[in-house]
Amino acid sequence: MMENEQTEMVELPSFTGTEVGYYFVCHKKLWWFAHGVQMEHGHDRVLMGKLVHEESYERRRKEIDIDGKIVLDWREDGCVHEVKLTDKMEEAHEMQLLYYLYYLKRKGVEGLRGQIDYPKLRQTRSIELTEENESKIEQALEDMKCITASEQAPQVEWMKICKSCSYAELCWG
Ligand code: SF4
Repeated sequence: MMENEQTEMVELPSFTGTEVGYYFVCHKKLWWFAHGVQMEHGHDRVLMGKLVHEESYERRRKEIDIDGKIVLDWREDGCVHEVKLTDKMEEAHEMQLLYYLYYLKRKGVEGLRGQIDYPKLRQTRSIELTEENESKIEQALEDMKCITASEQAPQVEWMKICKSCSYAELCWG
């Protein structure tokens, strides 16, 4: 997997994979996170590490941090993986992984496949960066710029997921 030298001039998106995932969960969550209130990510990673360790889910997995923005779970099957605990936030998981593929494409690495793994459910989901998905990502990135640039948190309605969100106290306390 070699980066194309010509792509060095390409402007890369500034958002992290976590921020893209949060955008598809809740705009307010993205806003909190982007404004320095970061409560949940570490907890998720601890849980995930425990799960992967317990399940011996992938013996050949290797985490690759790209530019401090996306962290790829790379396996020997030549596919970018994203391991998730549950499929409750399926769209957010899918868009986060698509963003990884999009980001890599901007860096000149094309033609990769993506796969979301749900080890607890023993399920997988394949992801492809089609033209349609690429434009969905680009629209999201534009919208994310507006949301995070605002001094005010976006107004959102209470949702079922608020019950288990670590920002609930801040939003509704
Ligand atoms: S508590 Fe609800 S509204 Fe607030 S950040 Fe979490 S999901 Fe969004």
